[in-house]
Amino acid sequence: MRPISGRTGLLGVIGDPIGHTLSPVMHNAAIAELGLDLVYLPFPVAPENLAAALQGFAGIGLLGFSVTIPHKQAIMPLLDEVSAVAQAIGAVNTVCRTGRGWSGTNTDAEGFLAPLLPLKRDWRQATAVILGNGGAARAVVAGCAQLGFGQIQLVGRSPEKLAAFRQSWPALSSLSVHPWENLAELLANAALVVNSTPIGMSPQSEASPLRPAELQQIQPETIVYDLIYSPRPTQLLQQAALQGAVTIDGLEMLVQQGAIALTLWIHQPASVEVMRQSLLAHFAQKS
Ligand code: NAP
Repeated sequence: MRPISGRTGLLGVIGDPIGHTLSPVMHNAAIAELGLDLVYLPFPVAPENLAAALQGFAGIGLLGFSVTIPHKQAIMPLLDEVSAVAQAIGAVNTVCRTGRGWSGTNTDAEGFLAPLLPLKRDWRQATAVILGNGGAARAVVAGCAQLGFGQIQLVGRSPEKLAAFRQSWPALSSLSVHPWENLAELLANAALVVNSTPIGMSPQSEASPLRPAELQQIQPETIVYDLIYSPRPTQLLQQAALQGAVTIDGLEMLVQQGAIALTLWIHQPASVEVMRQSLLAHFAQKS
């Protein structure tokens, strides 16, 4: 990394808590590779300080920042503009300073799609089954809609949240919501299964969102995509691989959504490979 000077530009990530973020690892690696005089920092921002933080960032000329839990929705009314994709998802994960003020977008759907696009499949007759109805699930639904899935079936545990989720996508006729009890039946026809719950995330690494009867419904060649990136692989992906499924973990989505954001801030392509390798090195060091 270049030494920090009086001219070093600032980027960062806001969240609460923020201590476990991996974003500085990959962003600073890509910045260093390009030899840019920039630094990407973690900023702990409590919910009640969000508006003040935004004003402060404008005051010190921050170039842009990532947004993580719990600010992805709350920041939207505080921004000067919000992209169509972020409005559809209902959350902002990337903010850029522009001539028009703070501009928010969401790079999670594009990040989610990155490992699926090279498969070059025709999804129009296919069914996607998505587990969970939180923020990440919204990006996954946006991504699946973009791929043109014939059916997008979302499974959750709260009838109220499921109903609200369905209502928030009025124009998406392919989307249906289902209770967890219907999961085994839904999985039998799924071409893509996405875990967008935290079940199986470290330190609960032994947990899986699928019970044995549900797992048995996974067909060979079904794509099982777990958004979790620690541990690698998750229990779900280990089980799915034994069933002959194609497996994808969350590392690539993390890297790709970050690379898209950095490219927006620095107006030149960020190296996906450098960002990926920096995270792999980080995980190797920790294990
Ligand atoms: P979130 O907004 O908190 O949503 C979590 C969802 O999981 C909610 O729908 C929740 O259900 C459901 N859930 C949690 N525990 C459950 C359980 N025991 N049984 C059934 N459902 C359960 O979180 P998020 O931001 O969407 O993140 C979800 C996961 O995706 C996390 O593991 C996160 O690390 C991962 N993620 C990865 C990336 C990446 O780049 N790879 C990006 C974003 C997120 P209720 O609504 O009923 O509580």
